[in-house]
Amino acid sequence: MRTFAFGFPRLGVHRQYKTLLERFWDGSLSSEAFQQGIAELKRERLQEYQGMDVIPSNELSLYDPMLDTAVMLGALPSRFRPYAGLSTYFALARGKHALELTKWFNTNYHYLVPELEEPTFELVQNFPLDDVRFHRHEGIETVPTLIGPYTFLRLSKRVRPAGDGLVRVAPLREEEFVEFGSAAVAAYSAVLHSLATEGVQLAVVHEPALALEVPESHWELLASWYGELSRCGVQLWVLCYYDSVSDYRRYSELPVAGIGLDFVSNDENWAELQRYGFPREKTLIAGILNGRQVWRSDLIERLRFLERLHLWVEELVIAPSCPLFHLPVTVSLERNLPEGLQERLAFARERIAELRLLKAAWEGDPGALREAQAQTQLLQTPFARNERVRQRVSALREGDFQRTPPAPLRRQLQQHRLQLPLLPTTTIGSFPQTAEIRRLRSQYARGELSASAYAAAIEQHIRHAIAVQEELGLDVLVHGEFERSDMVEYFAQRLEGFATTEHGWVLSYGSRVYRPPIIYGDVWRPAPMTVREITYAQSLTSKPVKGMLTGPVTMLLWSYWRQDIPAEELAYELALAIADEVRDLEAAGIRIIQIDEPAFREGAPLKRRHWDSYFRWAIRAFRLCHARARPETQIHTHMCYSEFNDIVHFIAELDFDVLSIEGSRSKGEIVDRFATLPPGSIHVGVGVYDVHSPAIPEVSDIEAILARVLQVLPPEAVWVNPDCGLKTRRWEEVIPALRNMVTAARRVAHRVHASSTNS
Ligand code: GLN
Ligand code: ZN
Repeated sequence: MRTFAFGFPRLGVHRQYKTLLERFWDGSLSSEAFQQGIAELKRERLQEYQGMDVIPSNELSLYDPMLDTAVMLGALPSRFRPYAGLSTYFALARGKHALELTKWFNTNYHYLVPELEEPTFELVQNFPLDDVRFHRHEGIETVPTLIGPYTFLRLSKRVRPAGDGLVRVAPLREEEFVEFGSAAVAAYSAVLHSLATEGVQLAVVHEPALALEVPESHWELLASWYGELSRCGVQLWVLCYYDSVSDYRRYSELPVAGIGLDFVSNDENWAELQRYGFPREKTLIAGILNGRQVWRSDLIERLRFLERLHLWVEELVIAPSCPLFHLPVTVSLERNLPEGLQERLAFARERIAELRLLKAAWEGDPGALREAQAQTQLLQTPFARNERVRQRVSALREGDFQRTPPAPLRRQLQQHRLQLPLLPTTTIGSFPQTAEIRRLRSQYARGELSASAYAAAIEQHIRHAIAVQEELGLDVLVHGEFERSDMVEYFAQRLEGFATTEHGWVLSYGSRVYRPPIIYGDVWRPAPMTVREITYAQSLTSKPVKGMLTGPVTMLLWSYWRQDIPAEELAYELALAIADEVRDLEAAGIRIIQIDEPAFREGAPLKRRHWDSYFRWAIRAFRLCHARARPETQIHTHMCYSEFNDIVHFIAELDFDVLSIEGSRSKGEIVDRFATLPPGSIHVGVGVYDVHSPAIPEVSDIEAILARVLQVLPPEAVWVNPDCGLKTRRWEEVIPALRNMVTAARRVAHRVHASSTNS
């Protein structure tokens, strides 16, 4: 048995990756110093794999591995040609008209979406070869890794001219895979040939897209592509993870030396393997340790599993279930975790240690076996349970998920109370998180600022935000979220059952990192979490101020969570805590409450046939938050930056009163989908401008978007808002942008009035 770990976080123990990139971008690091820093990080990072039998290379992308693949294949939009090295590379990633950024499978990592114009590829930069050479120079023999042609093409978009100087951007059509595929495979072959010439014997090809639904015709292509790639003189291992492979038989027949199976995400791969057997001549790369969650593994149970697996497979390689970059680097740096938690956690470094231990135990090392037993024993002792919370969940009845009366009646009561104009204007919640606010927060965290001085400073920012919004003439105001570092971490710090880390950073995209909290026990709310700031804001104005909460699905999905109870039950625990907060906000006189669910789509399983079970509980969890809200309290929700077109009917089932949804990325497509719902059944603000751009939207552009929305939705059902929160913008951008938004909304509302009185 051999061990293989891959995808170790590129961030570095001290977030060196982030620092290097950001300093290079702002000009404070020369190109040479940057390259030296990266080389140093590569060396350090490779040490993490010590003791593994197979050591991967080409894993330290300078921005994103999908971008690397596009560059390698010369798959560059014409606006970025000719390719001029790093300057083009970073222009593609973050320059003007950069590639679109979107979520990577069902994770919270974001990749750059390659744009394909023509089915022609050429080897532009041979990253895998360069990296093999780099490490050889250091005396380490590595196995190059690369994203496979199928995943690359499946996740890319085809760009075609569509008249009017506009372009149409869409995933490849089924028949386009043939043409693009053979061109891509030729370029991949060139890479593999170069590796063979260099004496490389094995390469690892990532094909997570095989866990999506893969049509029959694609399997035909895959067989022929991999036939061609296997003739280049390098043995291939293909990996598929994040879910079971879409067709086990087709996959196991691919003409390659080894195939990887994820045995953690669910039991399907294991069931299929037992049903159809495993090809004798192939190596199995068995993903048996969780690469997505932070818990130590039950190693004795894993050993038993390996014994069963071994009955079917001769050549066995043990590995994590997926790349390790979804985990922070190491838990050993943490100093403030709740009692008893640290020894239950494994981040990337500790996961690799588990692989070593597992192999040693498998080989009969008595020390390793004892250690494995001790770990299993520890994990079996109950931890952080709260029976009252468990009882509250088990006592839930159907009625607890059903708000009454129905939305149309509620909206009448709400309108009577709120007296909002036609096309009401609002924002999504956050206002600029200025350097001053970040400084305040860190001073407070370091104890340099007292709690009361900190609260007073936050109040001053709230006062400013309210004054600005009143002056702009917005209809529904927000307090600005200045007290929140992050929409999940803020609540995690105020809920029991949650831990937050000091150093548990994970890459979200580019150099952007976040620290997912850890749900380790039953979740409950010891005290109100938002009432003070919201009621303070409301005391400053007669306009309604929205209470701002993060929904249960997003709280769960943007954290790590315990595995000993179903995710569904955990979502209900979270929902009950949020429901308590809703009740307290109502009691404090708050008339509108927004429960954000930007991650709602993200939890959807990769295969549609699994969707219903996820959406059933995700919808119920959200409904549990507001089912007991008073009819006259207006419940809003917000979603953004996901593919919502195919889930609008699930969204509608959330039974909110108003939705604000990002619209600029889907280029208005989402509006047409709303037309498929019963007329007027959903009240929605489709984002009228992109918050990621510093550009100020023109009044006429916003009017045009509203006109488009009004073709589909009745005016009473339409709200006006930006795409998302404004925390990454500056006030100098926010104020004129919102001014134009309010102007556009008023003009359009005026026209609607005029035409309704005329007819
Ligand atoms: N209310 C949050 C904000 O405005 C929502 C953020 C999000 O959708 N990711 O920042
Ligand atoms: Zn958003």
